[in-house]
Parts: sequence; structure tokens; C-alpha cells
Amino acid sequence: MRLKHHNQIFVGMVLGVVVGMALWWYAESVATSDRELSGLYHTVMWALDLLGPTLFIGALKMIIAPLILASIVAGVTSLPNMKELGSIGWKTLAYYFVTTTIAVIIGLVTVLTLRPGHRDASLRIRADAESKQEVLRAQYQGEFGESAVAANGLPRPRYVVWLHGQKRREAGAAAGSFESQFEAISRAKDRTPGEIFTNDIVRPLLMNPFRSLAANPPNALGIIFFSLLMGIACTVVGSPAQPVVRFFQGLNGVMMTITHWLVRISPIAIGCIVAKLVADTGPKVFASLGWYCGAVIGGIFIHIMVLLAISTFLGGVNPFALWRGIREAWMIALSTRSSAATLPVTIANVTENLKVSPKVANFSLPLGATMNMDGTALYEGVAVIFLIQIYGGLDDVLITMTAVTTFLIFITAVLASIGAAAVPDAGLVTMVIVASAVNLPIYYIPLIFAVDAVLDMFRTSTNVLGDSIGAVVVHRLEKHRLGDELAASP
Ligand code: ASP
Repeated sequence: MRLKHHNQIFVGMVLGVVVGMALWWYAESVATSDRELSGLYHTVMWALDLLGPTLFIGALKMIIAPLILASIVAGVTSLPNMKELGSIGWKTLAYYFVTTTIAVIIGLVTVLTLRPGHRDASLRIRADAESKQEVLRAQYQGEFGESAVAANGLPRPRYVVWLHGQKRREAGAAAGSFESQFEAISRAKDRTPGEIFTNDIVRPLLMNPFRSLAANPPNALGIIFFSLLMGIACTVVGSPAQPVVRFFQGLNGVMMTITHWLVRISPIAIGCIVAKLVADTGPKVFASLGWYCGAVIGGIFIHIMVLLAISTFLGGVNPFALWRGIREAWMIALSTRSSAATLPVTIANVTENLKVSPKVANFSLPLGATMNMDGTALYEGVAVIFLIQIYGGLDDVLITMTAVTTFLIFITAVLASIGAAAVPDAGLVTMVIVASAVNLPIYYIPLIFAVDAVLDMFRTSTNVLGDSIGAVVVHRLEKHRLGDELAASP
């Protein structure tokens, strides 16, 4: 008997966890340094990396840029007139705004009531500490020696990660990427809101479209803006622009066909991605950050319930039908940790299984993958408040949780989620916006690096769920307005 495709993905994930745990256990028990690990271990890790992150995620990323371009032009030009675009546009944006706001509120309520930062004794910092830096320094030097502390007296990010359960081998791919994350965070701080607006929103919007398409990751905001303009211009020009319209409609179909090919091989690829992630992270990290993870995942769970209610009552799709419709996209988002890489599958699932008109889905899903990140927004608030709960009151973290602080976190978490790119770990980098708004020094952020990949799985799958339900809701509202026009589409 042949397993159904979604079951194959599920089996791939479970096998990935089992293989990953075996590799992690082997690395932990036999070796204290990467060099002591056997050649076979390195070969298996290399093969997992090649088949999962490199080939599968690489192939999905390969088609995102042309897919966004083609799907938006095809979507806009298939609408009867520009009034329809306006109507779909504002409903989509309103949905995104409302659900992101709800997500942040749920996150704030969860972290403020659960207080994960106050619960974990291993994370508690001496309240009477004269200087925070001294405490950190002593803690890390004691554990790892002099090399754990940088010249400025602060612990190096990789040691912060290791202290909280990450592998303690001397070198490792994970540590390298943590160092670069920290650098990205350091670069992102000290920018004024005006600079962020100009550099992160206005410039990308107006970037040369060929550069936007070629950038890595693609400049989704720029592609969306350019394709919207092109679609509108094609409609205004009318029949002379028909060859352009037909080209993009054809390109859209071609990209969807490639997507289907990739979906076919997804079970094996997902198994490899999960195995690699589990082997790199291991379960130990959750020992000291368990409450924090519980707050993020608990908040996300509550938000999913809200989204399901919206889907049922506003979108007319009950949770079972919704799950059947988008389970492939959800599982691919969970494992790839990128809404952008999942976008081709999200569009395919939402249009083919949930029967949302491509006229709505082709426009709202690329926009949603770029801007609408409920899971990320929720996480940003929880993470910053968790850090304040741990470090607040120390001489360099003079932050008290007042109504104003909470409001600042709320606003900046919404903005940070809109600004986050739809790629793995993006939320961690944009978190610096929230941290800076309340004067939380960024050298405390690495505390949560160790568990970020796992939390990213939950937030990305929630981001994709939110986008899909948005398309369902807007389709339902528009179907009523446009009558046969949309109802007739597949
Ligand atoms: N990985 C997330 C996404 O692609 C963004 C984030 O890091 O929160 O949706």
C-alpha cells in the first residue's frame, strides 16, 4: 500500500527526529571536539545538509523570485478592473493588521502571566550584582576560561549559547552561524526609525527590479511593488499589453509545475532537514530555556485557535478542511523555517485544495509571506519581555515593565514582524528593533539563540497558516461582492 503524500512527509519528519537524535547522542557521548568525531558522522551530516537545506530549500528559493513576479502580474491582470484590486488589497491589509495585532497581544499576555524569566533558577542573575558585566564575565570565564570573554569584557555569543546547553565542542557550524547572527544584530542597532524607514522600506521598494530578483534572498518588497505597478499598467494599456500578460500567466503556470515536482520529493528532503536540525541542536538546550519555549509555543497555540475560529466563522472553512487543504505547506514551513521558500507550495495548496481564487491568492499570499508574520510578531514580544524579566534591574538594564514599555514593545513587535524577511532566523535579527526601543542592551540577546531554530519552526508555520487563512477570508468576502466572477474560478 502506498502512503498518501502528506503521510509520507509526516513519516519523513519522524524519521528525521529519530536519526537526528541518534547523531546528537553519538556526538555528545563520544566527542568533546568536532575533530574527535568519526569520518562517517561528518559524511552523514554532509549528506543531510546536501539533500535537505542545500538542494531542497535551495530549489524552492530558486523559484520564489520569478514566482512572486509572475503570480502578482497574473493576479492583478486577471481582475476585471482596478476597483477590485483596491477592494482585495484593503481587505487583505486589514486582515493582516488585525491578526498581527491579536498575535502580539496574545504573546504579551502569555509572557506577562507565565513570567518564564522569573521561573528558571539556572537563569537567575544575582539581584545584588554591582555590575552586570562582572557577573556575566565571571560566569562565562568560570565555565569556559578566558577565551569565552571578548576584549570588551562581554561573553562571546557562542559561549552564551553553549552555557545554555548547546554542544560544547570547540568549533562547529552552529557556533559559526551564531557568531554571524550576533554580528547582524550588532549592525542593526543604533539606527533611527527614520533610517529604518528609508533604508528598509523605501529603498527596497524602488530597487531596480532585476537587482531585486537577483538578490539573495530576493527583495520581495521590491518585486511585489514592481509587479503590482506592471500589472496595473498592463490593465491600463489594454490589448497592446496582452502579450506581456500572457507571458506572465504562462510563467506563473510553469513555476507552479516546478513547485509540484519539488513537493513530490519533499518527504525525503524534510526528513534530512529535520535530522540535521535535531543533530545540531539536541534536547539539552531546552533544559534551561524550557519556560521561555513554553511561553512562545503556548502563545502560538492560543493564536492558532484564534486563527482557526476566524477561518471557520469568517472564511467558512472548518479546521479539518483547512488542515486537509494546507497540511503540506504547513509541514514544509515547519521544516524549512522560511515562509518565502514555502510560498510556492502555499499558493498551490490554497488555490487547488481550498479552492481560493488565484485572483486573490496570487496577490495576497506573496504579500502575506513578506509582511504578515503572526508567529514572528508574537515571538518578538515574548522574547524581549523574557530577557527583561531575567536581566531587568541590573545596572545596564534599567527597564521596568510599565504600560508605556509594554506599548512600545507592542508597536515595535508589529513593525519588526513586518520588516522581517521570510527566511530562517529573520525574526531574531529584527528583534533588535524591539530591544533597542526599550533600551535592552543587545549583548543579552544571545541567551535565546540556542533554541531559536526550534521556535522559528513554530513561528514560520504559524506565519504560513495566517497567510492561508487570510486568503480564505478575503476570497469569501470578495466572492460575495464579485459574484460569479470569482466563484467561477478554480
Ligand atoms: N522564519 C520566519 C519566516 O520565514 C521569519 C522569522 O524568523 O520569524 O516566516
